[in-house]
Amino acid sequence: MSYTIEGSTGTWEIVVGLEVHAQVISHSKLFSGASTVFGAEPNTQVSLIDAGFPGMLPVINHECVAQAVRTGLGLKARINLESRFDRKNYFYADLPQGYQISQFAHPIVGEGSIGIELSDGSTRDIGITRLHLEQDAGKLIHDQDPKLSLVDLNRAGVSLMEIVSEPDIRTPEEAGAYLRKLRQILRYLGTCDGNMDEGSMRADVNVSVRHAGEPFRTRCEIKNVNSIRFVMQAIEIEAARQVEVWESGGTVDQETRLFDPARSETRSLRSKEDAHDYRYFPDPDLLPLVIGQNWVDQLKASLPELPDEKRARFQKDYGITAYDAGVLVAEQAIADFYESVAKGRDGKSAAAWMTGDFFAALNRTGKSIDESPVGADKLGAMLDLIADSTINGKIAKDVLETMFETGETPLEIVERKGLRQVTDTGAIEKAADDVIANNTDKLEQYRGGKDKLFGFFVGQVMKATQGKANPAMVNEILRRKIDG
Ligand code: ADP
Ligand code: MG
Repeated sequence: MSYTIEGSTGTWEIVVGLEVHAQVISHSKLFSGASTVFGAEPNTQVSLIDAGFPGMLPVINHECVAQAVRTGLGLKARINLESRFDRKNYFYADLPQGYQISQFAHPIVGEGSIGIELSDGSTRDIGITRLHLEQDAGKLIHDQDPKLSLVDLNRAGVSLMEIVSEPDIRTPEEAGAYLRKLRQILRYLGTCDGNMDEGSMRADVNVSVRHAGEPFRTRCEIKNVNSIRFVMQAIEIEAARQVEVWESGGTVDQETRLFDPARSETRSLRSKEDAHDYRYFPDPDLLPLVIGQNWVDQLKASLPELPDEKRARFQKDYGITAYDAGVLVAEQAIADFYESVAKGRDGKSAAAWMTGDFFAALNRTGKSIDESPVGADKLGAMLDLIADSTINGKIAKDVLETMFETGETPLEIVERKGLRQVTDTGAIEKAADDVIANNTDKLEQYRGGKDKLFGFFVGQVMKATQGKANPAMVNEILRRKIDG
């Protein structure tokens, strides 16, 4: 969907490129053996390397490299068999080394792309420029002491992947779709947990505006935005600010800004630092990182099925719509659940029940799919009861609700509550006759052309049988009796 800003000098288009920092899932840090577990006591997971002691030598963590390669493969990107580590020099209290080890000119992963789907059903490919490995910094704590700032180095040296997009994004919605898709791929791959609220995925948002067809104009970079919703808001607000600057005759300066959601504004943090400010140079403690094509091929062969492929397969194997398939592959756990329900059953009906009443019940009870009191086996058993006409769809809704409350099997509930479907023609005929006899006025109106009243009769017969009648039979018997 297009998103533009109307100004006095014409229509403006937004240009966005995202730099995402994704914390690598690994037991230990990028260049040290210290643990990476989240939430530990401050400064309990710090090696001498992380603390920047002189004379310590970094040793590359094999698993972090594998995770970067897996991610590159998942982004359909070029894997660089030789890459290099550089020192990015700057002074900050949470960076005891005085430099961050990063990859500058020779990243481990080159160009790739991510396919996104938008709410109007259209799709777009967003280019990936590169992915490189780098160290995270520690964390300053300002709220524990009235006078002092404290530092926690647990995070110092943890492995990050910086994933840089091309300036291909044109709307806040596309930025949101890109981040959701990236997070989904990372989670499927098991290379980053994607938890933005814990800071394990955070985005720097580069925004500029231009009239359509113009070359790119100067961008501003909004640092460290920590939710998808905030990224979308920040783009909207920053783009509007830039349009105003340009239209009032000013120029946008390249700078780093901060998004303040409480005040719905972005504020200047510092003017743009350039690469030369960091005095990048090759880290003399580390050799070039050389990996073998064989190893890359092995990693590729062991990748899990990714969301796009899974979605296409679900459509093909289970005959479900692209939309439903998209919902069902949103998370690996949901996709697995769906497959165990759908296997050997009607895939469409499995999808309808899962995306409908089942998700609604999960939402209502505030549970994730892993905590669902109704497992795939029980939901499948319920579908079987519908398929073999033990219960109808209407009763099944109540059965599902009871399953969530009591944890019983569907059959136990059907037996305990006496919910078996009535397929006895005599009983349905009798109920239909009674309903007709008690509603002769309605019958007259119906026969006089008020077709909609047919539904009324169906409803009354269903009610008379406590909802248990076979709906197809009710329809057929009523047609015969009142149409005949
Ligand atoms: P730097 O190395 O200075 O950070 P890059 O060229 O690597 O600059 O770009 C960083 C990010 O900014 C990338 O995600 C890129 O897509 C984005 N970007 C570059 N130019 C623009 C622009 N004119 N408008 C919006 N985003 C841009
Ligand atoms: Mg940058």
